[in-house]
Amino acid sequence: MDMNVKKRLGELILDVPNFPKKGIIFKDITPLLAEPGAIKEAARHMASAFEEKSIDYVAGLEARGFIIGPLVASILNIGFIPIRKSGKLPRATLRATYELEYGIETLEIHKNSISKDKNNILIVDDVLATGGTAQAAANLVNQCGGNIVGYSFLIELQKLNGKQLLKDAQTESLFIF
Ligand code: AMP
Repeated sequence: MDMNVKKRLGELILDVPNFPKKGIIFKDITPLLAEPGAIKEAARHMASAFEEKSIDYVAGLEARGFIIGPLVASILNIGFIPIRKSGKLPRATLRATYELEYGIETLEIHKNSISKDKNNILIVDDVLATGGTAQAAANLVNQCGGNIVGYSFLIELQKLNGKQLLKDAQTESLFIF
Protein backbone atom coordinates (compact mmCIF):
# COMPACT_ATOMS: atom_id res chain seq x y z
CA MET A 1 0.00 0.00 0.00
CA ASP A 2 1.17 3.53 -0.85
CA MET A 3 2.71 5.05 2.31
CA ASN A 4 0.71 8.28 1.99
CA VAL A 5 -2.55 6.32 1.76
CA LYS A 6 -1.50 4.21 4.73
CA LYS A 7 -0.63 7.31 6.76
CA ARG A 8 -3.99 8.90 5.92
CA LEU A 9 -5.88 5.72 6.92
CA GLY A 10 -3.82 5.38 10.11
CA GLU A 11 -4.77 8.90 11.15
CA LEU A 12 -8.43 7.78 11.06
CA ILE A 13 -7.84 5.26 13.87
CA LEU A 14 -8.12 7.02 17.21
CA ASP A 15 -6.70 6.01 20.58
CA VAL A 16 -9.30 6.22 23.36
CA PRO A 17 -7.57 5.76 26.74
CA ASN A 18 -9.33 3.89 29.55
CA PHE A 19 -12.17 2.43 27.45
CA PRO A 20 -13.99 0.13 28.14
CA LYS A 21 -12.01 0.04 31.38
CA LYS A 22 -8.96 1.63 33.01
CA GLY A 23 -5.63 0.79 31.43
CA ILE A 24 -7.03 -0.23 27.99
CA ILE A 25 -6.25 2.00 25.01
CA PHE A 26 -9.22 1.36 22.75
CA LYS A 27 -8.60 1.59 19.00
CA ASP A 28 -11.61 3.46 17.63
CA ILE A 29 -12.12 2.77 13.92
CA THR A 30 -15.35 4.75 13.54
CA PRO A 31 -13.56 7.73 11.86
CA LEU A 32 -12.11 5.24 9.34
CA LEU A 33 -15.62 3.91 8.69
CA ALA A 34 -16.97 7.44 8.25
CA GLU A 35 -14.44 8.38 5.58
CA PRO A 36 -15.68 7.50 2.06
CA GLY A 37 -13.67 4.64 0.56
CA ALA A 38 -11.32 4.24 3.54
CA ILE A 39 -12.50 0.89 4.90
CA LYS A 40 -12.71 -0.50 1.35
CA GLU A 41 -9.08 0.50 0.77
CA ALA A 42 -8.08 -1.12 4.08
CA ALA A 43 -10.04 -4.30 3.23
CA ARG A 44 -8.39 -4.47 -0.19
CA HIS A 45 -5.02 -4.52 1.52
CA MET A 46 -6.19 -7.07 4.11
CA ALA A 47 -7.32 -9.37 1.28
CA SER A 48 -4.21 -8.92 -0.89
CA ALA A 49 -1.88 -11.26 1.04
CA PHE A 50 -4.41 -14.10 0.66
CA GLU A 51 -5.46 -13.68 -2.98
CA GLU A 52 -3.47 -16.71 -4.19
CA LYS A 53 -4.34 -18.98 -1.26
CA SER A 54 -7.52 -20.75 -2.48
CA ILE A 55 -9.61 -19.62 0.46
CA ASP A 56 -13.24 -20.78 0.52
CA TYR A 57 -14.69 -18.53 3.25
CA VAL A 58 -13.86 -15.56 5.40
CA ALA A 59 -14.96 -16.14 9.00
CA GLY A 60 -15.54 -12.86 10.85
CA LEU A 61 -16.11 -12.04 14.47
CA GLU A 62 -18.91 -10.03 15.96
CA ALA A 63 -19.01 -7.08 15.98
CA ARG A 64 -16.34 -5.23 14.03
CA GLY A 65 -15.33 -8.36 12.14
CA PHE A 66 -18.86 -8.17 10.68
CA ILE A 67 -18.01 -4.83 9.12
CA ILE A 68 -14.61 -5.72 7.69
CA GLY A 69 -15.01 -9.48 7.09
CA PRO A 70 -17.75 -9.32 4.43
CA LEU A 71 -15.78 -6.62 2.58
CA VAL A 72 -12.67 -8.81 2.51
CA ALA A 73 -14.83 -11.79 1.43
CA SER A 74 -16.40 -9.75 -1.35
CA ILE A 75 -12.96 -8.62 -2.61
CA LEU A 76 -11.82 -12.28 -2.63
CA ASN A 77 -15.11 -13.30 -4.31
CA ILE A 78 -15.94 -15.80 -1.59
CA GLY A 79 -18.58 -16.20 1.10
CA PHE A 80 -18.68 -15.06 4.71
CA ILE A 81 -19.33 -17.11 7.87
CA PRO A 82 -20.35 -15.24 11.04
CA ILE A 83 -18.89 -16.14 14.42
CA ARG A 84 -21.22 -14.61 17.01
CA LYS A 85 -21.54 -13.98 20.68
CA SER A 86 -23.55 -16.50 22.69
CA GLY A 87 -27.27 -16.89 21.95
CA LYS A 88 -27.47 -14.99 18.64
CA LEU A 89 -27.26 -17.71 15.99
CA PRO A 90 -30.64 -19.37 15.33
CA ARG A 91 -29.62 -22.94 14.40
CA ALA A 92 -27.48 -25.60 16.12
CA THR A 93 -24.08 -24.19 17.12
CA LEU A 94 -20.66 -25.11 18.43
CA ARG A 95 -19.30 -22.97 21.29
CA ALA A 96 -15.94 -21.79 22.60
CA THR A 97 -15.31 -19.77 25.78
CA TYR A 98 -12.14 -17.71 26.19
CA GLU A 99 -10.55 -14.82 28.07
CA LEU A 100 -10.55 -11.36 26.47
CA GLU A 101 -8.21 -8.41 27.15
CA TYR A 102 -11.12 -7.03 29.19
CA GLY A 103 -13.39 -9.92 30.28
CA ILE A 104 -14.69 -13.40 29.43
CA GLU A 105 -16.60 -14.21 26.24
CA THR A 106 -18.36 -17.13 24.56
CA LEU A 107 -18.41 -17.43 20.78
CA GLU A 108 -20.59 -19.61 18.56
CA ILE A 109 -20.61 -20.79 14.96
CA HIS A 110 -23.35 -22.64 13.07
CA LYS A 111 -22.49 -26.33 13.28
CA ASN A 112 -22.99 -27.06 9.58
CA SER A 113 -21.39 -23.90 8.18
CA ILE A 114 -18.33 -25.58 6.60
CA SER A 115 -18.40 -28.49 4.13
CA LYS A 116 -15.58 -30.97 3.48
CA ASP A 117 -14.92 -29.73 -0.04
CA LYS A 118 -14.97 -26.00 0.89
CA ASN A 119 -13.06 -25.82 4.14
CA ASN A 120 -10.17 -23.34 3.72
CA ILE A 121 -10.87 -20.44 6.04
CA LEU A 122 -9.44 -16.94 6.54
CA ILE A 123 -10.24 -15.35 9.91
CA VAL A 124 -10.79 -11.59 9.83
CA ASP A 125 -11.16 -9.12 12.70
CA ASP A 126 -10.41 -5.47 13.43
CA VAL A 127 -7.90 -5.83 16.28
CA LEU A 128 -5.44 -8.54 17.29
CA ALA A 129 -4.77 -7.93 20.99
CA THR A 130 -3.98 -10.97 23.20
CA GLY A 131 -5.05 -13.33 20.39
CA GLY A 132 -7.61 -15.12 22.56
CA THR A 133 -10.56 -14.17 20.34
CA ALA A 134 -8.90 -15.26 17.11
CA GLN A 135 -7.69 -18.47 18.75
CA ALA A 136 -11.23 -19.25 19.97
CA ALA A 137 -12.53 -18.54 16.46
CA ALA A 138 -9.92 -20.86 14.97
CA ASN A 139 -10.90 -23.50 17.50
CA LEU A 140 -14.55 -23.25 16.39
CA VAL A 141 -13.59 -23.38 12.71
CA ASN A 142 -11.49 -26.50 13.37
CA GLN A 143 -14.37 -28.11 15.30
CA CYS A 144 -16.53 -27.53 12.20
CA GLY A 145 -14.00 -29.29 9.98
CA GLY A 146 -12.40 -26.08 8.71
CA ASN A 147 -8.73 -25.55 7.95
CA ILE A 148 -7.26 -22.19 8.99
CA VAL A 149 -5.32 -20.73 6.07
CA GLY A 150 -4.65 -17.39 7.70
CA TYR A 151 -5.63 -14.47 9.89
CA SER A 152 -6.04 -10.93 8.59
CA PHE A 153 -6.38 -8.00 11.00
CA LEU A 154 -6.72 -4.29 10.47
CA ILE A 155 -4.69 -3.59 13.64
CA GLU A 156 -2.18 -5.58 15.67
CA LEU A 157 -1.25 -4.47 19.21
CA GLN A 158 2.25 -5.89 19.12
CA LYS A 159 3.03 -5.59 22.84
CA LEU A 160 0.27 -8.06 23.71
CA ASN A 161 1.99 -10.74 21.64
CA GLY A 162 -1.22 -12.21 20.20
CA LYS A 163 0.65 -13.54 17.18
CA GLN A 164 2.25 -16.14 19.47
CA LEU A 165 -1.15 -17.86 19.83
CA LEU A 166 -1.76 -17.94 16.07
CA LYS A 167 1.30 -19.85 14.94
CA ASP A 168 -0.80 -22.40 13.02
CA ALA A 169 -1.19 -20.08 10.02
CA GLN A 170 -0.05 -16.89 8.29
CA THR A 171 -1.00 -13.75 10.24
CA GLU A 172 -1.16 -10.33 8.56
CA SER A 173 -2.04 -6.90 9.97
CA LEU A 174 -2.30 -3.62 8.08
CA PHE A 175 -1.36 -1.46 11.09
CA ILE A 176 1.03 -2.55 13.83
CA PHE A 177 0.95 -0.37 16.94
P1 AMP B 1 -7.98 -10.37 21.92
O1 AMP B 1 -8.80 -11.58 22.08
O2 AMP B 1 -7.33 -9.93 23.20
O3 AMP B 1 -6.96 -10.50 20.79
O4 AMP B 1 -8.97 -9.17 21.57
C1 AMP B 1 -9.44 -9.00 20.29
C2 AMP B 1 -10.88 -8.61 20.25
O5 AMP B 1 -11.22 -7.64 21.22
C3 AMP B 1 -11.22 -8.00 18.91
O6 AMP B 1 -12.46 -8.53 18.50
C4 AMP B 1 -11.28 -6.52 19.15
O7 AMP B 1 -12.40 -5.98 18.52
C5 AMP B 1 -11.37 -6.35 20.65
N1 AMP B 1 -10.28 -5.53 21.22
C6 AMP B 1 -9.32 -5.96 22.08
N2 AMP B 1 -8.52 -4.99 22.45
C7 AMP B 1 -8.93 -3.90 21.80
C8 AMP B 1 -8.49 -2.53 21.76
N3 AMP B 1 -7.43 -2.13 22.47
N4 AMP B 1 -9.15 -1.67 20.97
C9 AMP B 1 -10.21 -2.09 20.24
N5 AMP B 1 -10.68 -3.34 20.25
C10 AMP B 1 -10.07 -4.23 21.02
